[in-house]
Amino acid sequence: MKSELLLVLALFLCVSSKPLSKRKMNNKLLLISFDGFRWDYDQDVNTPNLDKLVKEGVKAKYINPPAITMTSPSHFTTITGRWIEDHGVVHNLMFNDTTGLRVPHKATLKRSEWWDNGALPLWITAQNQGLKTGSFFYPGGGVNYGGQAVDRSLVADHGHPDDNETEWRQNIDTVMGWFTKDDLDFVTLYYGEPDNVGHAFGPETPERRKIIEQIDRTIGYLREAIHKSGLTDHLNVILTSDHGMTTVKKVNEIKLSNYMSLLNLTRFDLLDYGGFGMITPREGRQQEVYDALKNAHPNLTVYKKEEIPEHFHIRRHERIQPIVLLADLGFNINSRIILYINKGDHGYSNEEMDMKMIFRAFGPDFRDNFLAEPFDSVSIYPLMCKLLGVVPEANNGSLSDTKDMLVDNSDAGKHLIRLSEGAPLKNGLFHQSNRL
Ligand SMILES: [Zn+2]
Repeated sequence: MKSELLLVLALFLCVSSKPLSKRKMNNKLLLISFDGFRWDYDQDVNTPNLDKLVKEGVKAKYINPPAITMTSPSHFTTITGRWIEDHGVVHNLMFNDTTGLRVPHKATLKRSEWWDNGALPLWITAQNQGLKTGSFFYPGGGVNYGGQAVDRSLVADHGHPDDNETEWRQNIDTVMGWFTKDDLDFVTLYYGEPDNVGHAFGPETPERRKIIEQIDRTIGYLREAIHKSGLTDHLNVILTSDHGMTTVKKVNEIKLSNYMSLLNLTRFDLLDYGGFGMITPREGRQQEVYDALKNAHPNLTVYKKEEIPEHFHIRRHERIQPIVLLADLGFNINSRIILYINKGDHGYSNEEMDMKMIFRAFGPDFRDNFLAEPFDSVSIYPLMCKLLGVVPEANNGSLSDTKDMLVDNSDAGKHLIRLSEGAPLKNGLFHQSNRL
C-alpha cells in the first residue's frame, strides 16, 4: 500500500513539475525554410543528400501553403499555426490604405506593428514556457510581440546576398553553437533561395537546378555539423518552405488601366506585385470597380471581400481590402504600366500544384523511410509544439495530419486547443470556422 502511494505521489510530481522537467525530456528542434522551394524541385536534379533523407527520415509528397502564397504571410502561418485572416500578415508589403504608406518587404522585418496582431509565434510561446529560442533571418523573428523579443535574433540587412554558399555554412555553424553553447531549444533558420533564382530566371532553368544542388550540398553539410556537434540524438529538424514558383511569360500581363480609370475610381491599391492584388475603391465607387473588372480578362478573378471563398481563410481580416484580385497561374496583375518582369513568380492560388512546397523531417523523434500524405502548412505548428513539449496557443492546425511521422505518437492530440468558441484577437475579430 505504501509503495503504491509513493508511486502515485511520484506520478503527481512528474505531472506538476512541468517547466523544468520539460527541458530535459524533449529534444531540440531546428526549423529550416528555403524560400520558394517548390515540392518537386528535387526531381530533375541530382540531390544525394535530400534522397538520403527520404530513407533516414520523413518526406511529405508535398504540403499546401496558405491562400496568399507570399513569403511573409506563409512564414507567419507556419510559426503561429494560424490562418492569414487570424494572424493579419496579409502581404509582403506593410501598408496603410488611409495614408497610402507602403513599406518594402525587407524593411517590414523590423516593424513590430506589422507582425504583432495578437497571434503569438512559437518562439514567444516556447519562451513563456521556459524554453530558449532563436531566429536566424526567419520572417517575423526580428520584432517584438507584446514587447517581448525572441531570445536570439538576427535579421538580414537590405541587400544581403542570398546565395553565398560559404555564408550558408557559417550560418549553420552559428546555429549549432546556439544549440550547444547557448543551450537554445528551438531555432528557425531562413534561406532566401531558391526564391531569388526562381524569380530571376524562372523555375524550369539550369540556374534553378544549380541552386538546388547548392541547397543539397548545404543539407549534407548540416547533417555533418549536427553529427560533429553531438546533436544527432538530440535534435529534430524540419525542412520546409513558404510557397512554390511558376513560369511567367511576358505575354501573360494583365493591365488594369485598360479596363478602368484607377485615378477616378480607387484611392489605394496593392498591384504590380504578381498574381495577387487588392484595391480600395473611392467612397461609393466599389460597384463600378467591381463591374469594370469582373469580366475584364479571362484569366483574372475578381472578388468583393465578402465573396472571397471561406476556405481561403483570408477575408475576415481588416487589412484585406474591399476588392481582391487573383490571376490565373503565370499571369501578372499590373496597374498602369507593365512593371513586373520576373520570369518566375508565386502569389497564385494555393490549389495550384506549382504553389505547393517541400516538407522533410528527420531526427530522433521522426520515423525513418516514412512517406506522408500532403497536408496544410498550418499543421506544422502543432507538430513543433508536440516535439518541444510546448502547450500550443489556440491554432488552426491539426496534429492528426502529422502524428504518424513520429516514433511515439501515443499522446498525439493531448495539446490541441479547440477554437470552435472563437478566439479573441487584438484586432477585435472573432473567428469560428477553425478546424482542429
Ligand atoms: Zn517566399
